[in-house]
Amino acid sequence: MIDKYGRQITYLRLSVTELCNLRCRYCMPAEGICKKDHSQMMTEEEIVLAVKAAASLGVRKLRITGGEPLVKKNILSICEKTGAVKGIQEVCLTTNGILLPEMAKDLRRAGVSRVNISLDTLNPERYAYITRIGSLKQAMAGIEAALAAGFERVKINAVLIGGFNDGEIRDLAGLTCRYPLDVRFIELMPMSGSREFGEDSYLPGTAVLDRIPELEPASADGGVARLYRIPGGKGQVGLISPVSAHFCGLCNRLRLTADGKIKPCLHSSAEYSIRGLDEAGMRAQFLRAMEEKPAWHGELSAKCPSQAGRSMNQIGG
Ligand code: SAM
Ligand code: SF4
Repeated sequence: MIDKYGRQITYLRLSVTELCNLRCRYCMPAEGICKKDHSQMMTEEEIVLAVKAAASLGVRKLRITGGEPLVKKNILSICEKTGAVKGIQEVCLTTNGILLPEMAKDLRRAGVSRVNISLDTLNPERYAYITRIGSLKQAMAGIEAALAAGFERVKINAVLIGGFNDGEIRDLAGLTCRYPLDVRFIELMPMSGSREFGEDSYLPGTAVLDRIPELEPASADGGVARLYRIPGGKGQVGLISPVSAHFCGLCNRLRLTADGKIKPCLHSSAEYSIRGLDEAGMRAQFLRAMEEKPAWHGELSAKCPSQAGRSMNQIGG
């Protein structure tokens, strides 16, 4: 699939649930979300069929996300079956890590090659504050379990939040010296869940370069992060700047929500339903979504929030 701006679409972010065992302040409301009826969500068969349709159009990489994908009962079977679809070369997964101690090895066996783990702070009180109900100890145990399970790559995703974790940038980046993993700083995006964050919370990714002047540029890996390395570090430090320096010209992805809507862009309200369709019908919807992929997501700021029309856990970040 090549869109009208010449971007080749090879990457599908597949959300398998809207539910989560945490309540991060920038993502979800404190009370959680109203659980939808099973009949509104994609079944495992529909998920696999959708991946077949996407793969037949050139999708090669899947990232399984949510909500929290590891709270989904049949997650191992979903990973295994979608990874076995002809054309799919790589299955990656994004998680908050809380359930990795019991699941990391099984995920690896089910064919997941890489995991991204979200961690915004190394301070137990701040972790409990930002996630509302989480324990840093559990998240760190999840990171250790991922490293022990032998994934090809483990990455930490930290959302940069002014007044919250900007004093920890050096410590978070320092994880690349303690462990063989990468740390990526992601700019906070003004989504419906992040209303409590004021203008000062939106830091540009370059704040990381100001705090760690010794960072050395590293060669790009084809992704959307600008990459650096602490001299002598085992892994890379990445900056992902959807707000201050959008990378829409390089965007090679579509998203599929857990309730069966293809989203051409994270920040657009456009959605194309695939529920109840056969593979050919799903393929047609993927092509429609690709045709409607916008050139860029438009301005994003505290005053100009995302037009996504859903909170992040309902899209699949
Ligand atoms: N529950 C999993 C996790 O937290 O990794 C997967 C889903 S979560 C929605 C995916 C990613 O989106 C996480 O790394 C999270 O930090 C990020 N995210 C959620 N809301 C965000 C926001 N408003 N701005 C930037 N990143 C956000
Ligand atoms: Fe859950 Fe991930 Fe959203 Fe946090 S960012 S509330 S862990 S879905």
